[in-house]
Amino acid sequence: MKYHLACGDVMPGCAATFTSDSQDTLLGEVARHAAADHGLTEITPEVRDAVLAQVTSA
Ligand SMILES: [Zn+2]
Repeated sequence: MKYHLACGDVMPGCAATFTSDSQDTLLGEVARHAAADHGLTEITPEVRDAVLAQVTSA
């Protein structure tokens, strides 16, 4: 199972994409990216839910 997220689905205009074997690892990568590129230093439950809603798995 691979988990995939296009950041642009959460943050319109962002071209970053993430793929990982685990949803937790994916969220960690997204959190680092969000802090570095979007100034989102805290992943609130709302942000986490918005991200998870856009995660696809295959
Ligand atoms: Zn982004």
